[in-house]
Amino acid sequence: MATLTEKPDTVDEIGQHVDLKRAGANYKGLCPFHSEKTPSFIVNPSRQRYHCFGCGADGDVIDFVQRLKSLSFKEALRYLGIEQGPLTAKRRAEIAEQKRASALMAEFRAWEGEHHRELCTLYRCLQTAKRNCKTPEDMERLAKWYHLESEWVRRLDILEGRDDEEKYELYAEYRRDDASHLAAEVKR
Ligand SMILES: [Zn+2]
Repeated sequence: MATLTEKPDTVDEIGQHVDLKRAGANYKGLCPFHSEKTPSFIVNPSRQRYHCFGCGADGDVIDFVQRLKSLSFKEALRYLGIEQGPLTAKRRAEIAEQKRASALMAEFRAWEGEHHRELCTLYRCLQTAKRNCKTPEDMERLAKWYHLESEWVRRLDILEGRDDEEKYELYAEYRRDDASHLAAEVKR
């Protein structure tokens, strides 16, 4: 019997339940945890983990069968033919990593809605300001907003689109560059 440190290969196991196609270093398929027509479910063989960009499902092979078959951790081990033994440091680290990943996903989803609202507000304000623009002073004040408008539209397109990977990139960009700056603009 395999032990916890030698779990069955993630691609082999998940491949029995999901039709996986190679996509670069990963495998891609239709997510079994939410309904979709284009694949956003990814299995990463080097990390031995799966991740869905659609619904945020994320984990290792044990977590996968738990979710798929609604099994407890112990039942999943039995299903996969793994002997439990004591909780190893590696497994403990994995559990911590899973918790961290799902917390990050929740944070990202919250940001997605929040940022979309912020941008809509900014965009609306700018349109109103444009309509009310009468004097050269008004125009001067508006000038600095013009280059921002195209950036807002780009972001709105991403946030209203279906490509979660683009959204992740935008999120990383946002956290790096302008988290505090934009929030301050909205409060004004
Ligand atoms: Zn999914």
